[in-house]
Amino acid sequence: RKARLPDLDTLADRVAAGERRALARAITLIESTRPEDRALSTALLQKLSGLKRQALRIGLSGTPGVGKSTFIEAFGIALIDAGLKVAVLAVDPSSTRTGGSILGDKTRMERLSRAPEAFIRPSPSLSHLGGVSRRTREAVALVEAAGFDVVLIETVGVGQSETMVAEMSDLFVLLLAPAGGDELQGVKRGIMETADLILVNKADGDLKSTATRTCADYAGALRLLRKRPEDPEGFPKALMVSAVTGLGLEQAWSEMQALAKWRQAEGHWDARRAAQARGWFEAEVRAGLLARLTEDTATRTAMDRLGADVAAGKLTASQAAENILETLGAAPALETDP
Ligand code: GDP
Repeated sequence: RKARLPDLDTLADRVAAGERRALARAITLIESTRPEDRALSTALLQKLSGLKRQALRIGLSGTPGVGKSTFIEAFGIALIDAGLKVAVLAVDPSSTRTGGSILGDKTRMERLSRAPEAFIRPSPSLSHLGGVSRRTREAVALVEAAGFDVVLIETVGVGQSETMVAEMSDLFVLLLAPAGGDELQGVKRGIMETADLILVNKADGDLKSTATRTCADYAGALRLLRKRPEDPEGFPKALMVSAVTGLGLEQAWSEMQALAKWRQAEGHWDARRAAQARGWFEAEVRAGLLARLTEDTATRTAMDRLGADVAAGKLTASQAAENILETLGAAPALETDP
């Protein structure tokens, strides 16, 4: 391997001091699937979790071309001007390219990528959603430990990645384009229900009047949704913005802050994070068990042997499955807190 990692304590200290190179290295470490790197990642994250630092985690989704990069650049700069440190993480489970654009591409966020108060990390090319999900939430934990105030988690509005991002965010923002006619743009109901803020982008020039109409349509649709206990009056909300002229960016930020403050005060913030952490723990256990089924040689051999018995009619499928599950249950117990 090329660059040796500094020892774990040093790496943790540097991340905690907000050093961007150390942060980048730490993220590379957590993206690695080598078992020895996994052990180091787990130890690093455990160490840094003691800092108990929290950023505002904002999930941002939108189809390719809607203006995500342009919005993140303008919004990110505005946050930095307000004295905040901003991290951008991209989530793209299928590939690093979606509709011709690379999520988290630094050349498309030129000013932001040069700002010392910003940290941008493009999506890694991991193929399965489970890996992407873990990588992203661990990367979020790292940027929080590094002292960033806001982390924007960018994704495309396709498939499960959107739900996954919504589930790891404190606030979920949907970026939409102005659309002609009075038809809502086929936004899935499920996603409308997870959105806290719908931003109709490109409200400038020729598109302004269409944007105004689109925004009113969405505001109407949002009012029809069942009220969620974690929302104050008036949320979820639809607003018009222009990533190009900067229209509405300030208001979008103040709405996000208002919502975050309300949820903190009402206990929804902590409850949501606690539920998220519990969900990840259970997902990790499931993933670990699954990995054991496919990767553990002894289990693999037993599966093949029992599979042959089932195929030959010597054992029923249920009996064979029970045998395997018993073996897994008898394996060394997971570490538990004392
Ligand atoms: P992404 O694929 O969602 O990241 O979209 P981009 O940020 O690359 O933007 C796609 C296109 O829309 C580019 O040509 C942008 O210049 C343009 N665009 C983005 N935001 C705005 C906006 O607020 N107003 C206008 N008129 N064009 C915009």
